[in-house]
Amino acid sequence: MRPVDKQGRLTVGVDLGGTNLRIAAFDSEWKRLDYINLPTRVGDGPEAVVGDMCDAIRRVLERCGANQELIGVGIGAPGPLELPSGRFHRPPNLPGFDGFLLKDAMESNLQTAVIVECDANAAALAEWKSGAGKEMPGDSMCMLTLGTGVGAGIILERKIWHGMNGMGGEGGHIPVVEDGFACGCGGRGCLEQYTSATAICRAANRAAALGNAPHIAELIARRIESQGEFTARDLAGLAREGDEAARQVFADAGKYLGMGLAMLVNVLNLPLYVIGGGVVSGWDLFAPRMFEELRRLSYIYALTEPAANQAFTPGKTYIVPAVTGPDAGLLGAAMLPYLEADPTGI
Ligand SMILES: [Zn+2]
Repeated sequence: MRPVDKQGRLTVGVDLGGTNLRIAAFDSEWKRLDYINLPTRVGDGPEAVVGDMCDAIRRVLERCGANQELIGVGIGAPGPLELPSGRFHRPPNLPGFDGFLLKDAMESNLQTAVIVECDANAAALAEWKSGAGKEMPGDSMCMLTLGTGVGAGIILERKIWHGMNGMGGEGGHIPVVEDGFACGCGGRGCLEQYTSATAICRAANRAAALGNAPHIAELIARRIESQGEFTARDLAGLAREGDEAARQVFADAGKYLGMGLAMLVNVLNLPLYVIGGGVVSGWDLFAPRMFEELRRLSYIYALTEPAANQAFTPGKTYIVPAVTGPDAGLLGAAMLPYLEADPTGI
């Protein structure tokens, strides 16, 4: 039996992704007690995926031992989602889930209360409570997660901002380019199409195809030869070696991110904006251009920019990289039952 916290309480978080299902139990001090990672059997339909999730939750609980209290189960799922029912609306990474009611299906299988949340909101919650938000205390923040897509989560006055029916905070779909790249949401020129890991790789591929980026082209060819995948991380390596074309791809992503942030800062006037997801490992490569664009486009940022290396000061606007890493969504999902029980208590 694994050790549990002194109160003997735990919650289970689930990160439902298009490729992987991750399930973990956490104690009330956010220490991870047990963890299961499974492939998401998307092709077998939502009932099969729910069955896999529920079996894994039971296994995790069994392995944690019987002498503790389960506070609840939280799930982070890809949007757009109607909340609190967790009804999917044509999620691009979960084909076949359109209209499926996740909360009902999970609760009738598990016979316990389940809270469904948009994955980007769950990540924002984790970052607020145990990441960047811990060092910069405040009641509100916004997080952009730059991964395969771009998710956004907004916490306003200690509550996740859901909007009217759970679809609020879709910051990845702020339009930044008129008639730009077509987006999975049906729009064009969305922030996601210029700042996600997918978008960064696409921009690198385009530069290589146009003949402007011989080193990128060489690296892509090497990856194809070894049947590997060319990633944003590969590109970051090249940029840090000084390759100008690779540096330009990150600078462009930084510019668009600065545009998106300028809109968020001007509208929301929050103390903290956190940038997370895999792309954040390239912070040194995109952040200078991001801040430059932000200063140029947001007069609110210009009025509230903190001095370099200034200690946290109320009234200033902070834009920082995330610190919780790839577990943010999973941890945030596990925090949901506490937030539901007492919005001011976690
Ligand atoms: Zn979009």
